[in-house]
Amino acid sequence: MTLPTTGRAWHLTARPDGWPTPDDFALREEPVQAPAAGQVLVRNLWMSVDPYMRGRMNDVKSYIPPFQLDRPMDGAAVGVVVASEADGFAPGDHVSHALGWREYATLEARHAQKVSADLAPLSAYLGVLGMPGLTAYAGLLDVASFKEGDAVFVSGAAGAVGSQVGQIARIKGASRVIGSAGSAEKVKLLTEEYGFDAAFNYKDGPVAEQLRAAAPDGIDVYFDNVGGDHLEAAIGALNVHGRATLCGMIAGYNDTEPAPGPKNLMLAIGKRLRLTGMLVNDHQALQPRFVEETAGWLRSGELKFHETTAEGIESAVDAFLGMLRGRNTGKMVVRLGE
Ligand code: NAP
Repeated sequence: MTLPTTGRAWHLTARPDGWPTPDDFALREEPVQAPAAGQVLVRNLWMSVDPYMRGRMNDVKSYIPPFQLDRPMDGAAVGVVVASEADGFAPGDHVSHALGWREYATLEARHAQKVSADLAPLSAYLGVLGMPGLTAYAGLLDVASFKEGDAVFVSGAAGAVGSQVGQIARIKGASRVIGSAGSAEKVKLLTEEYGFDAAFNYKDGPVAEQLRAAAPDGIDVYFDNVGGDHLEAAIGALNVHGRATLCGMIAGYNDTEPAPGPKNLMLAIGKRLRLTGMLVNDHQALQPRFVEETAGWLRSGELKFHETTAEGIESAVDAFLGMLRGRNTGKMVVRLGE
């Protein structure tokens, strides 16, 4: 088979100040390297757009290096091996890896994980069976020390991480699961399909008031995907010895000034709250247990998931910007090929 010599890849061409615009990106033709010893060449079929990528567009020191300007961007992807110089990998194998935002990726085979389309659609390895799923699993069970009987509130509840947090809490015996999301359709999905006990649209009125009505006896665990008014409301609603997982604060990702902190943080003292930041990469040891349990819940139908699919590599930036604005239900993924 003749290998491709070029393929398209997205570059960041300017660092956004506030909300990114399509002008900050360019889709460019790049040379495709034939695999060297120990490497595979992968044709990407799916790529992920994730909130953390917004942080990588800023030139600041963080837990992950910034995207370089005028270089291919990267991120989670699933593809098919088209050429292999590595033992154990053959053309036709499906793999997940970290070189998304491009049509073809040449990488060390040890950085690729084989995935099976028999268990779930390949795109699921970017969401329910991938990094967002592990974030939900580890953030709830490990970081927040969830236990049966806890009342759990999760924000961003119709998104990839949030929808899984709420359902795992339900499956594991939460006394009450409450979610917030940004539209009436999403709120309906939470209670009617995902089995949340209560849900509200945060755009309908103050979060603190809506949370009080949804959780009259307070909450024991808060899983924060949003920050801002959600975090403040949750601190108000947490019971004594409550725990919060600080997973994301998407409400502030495009702010040009730092958002003010929660005004009621002093409540954490009297209520002896535990507020813990998390990064999913610290929880890789849970991966086998996470996959085993999640696969079981998917097979039994206890765990449901949605994906919002954008078609074609051309649509990737639009999909990323749409995800930041809430256009996704469940995981936002981009289909690059069949
Ligand atoms: P997602 O929830 O699938 O998509 C992002 C969602 O955020 C949108 O659909 C939108 O839904 C919501 N949103 C946007 N602006 C908002 C605002 N101002 N207020 C409230 N909601 C807003 O994304 P995800 O991949 O599952 O990630 C969810 C959170 O987890 C993010 O904060 C992300 O950074 C974080 N995360 C952290 C880790 C970690 O290791 N710490 C790992 C993965 C993800 P609505 O329509 O409901 O507004």
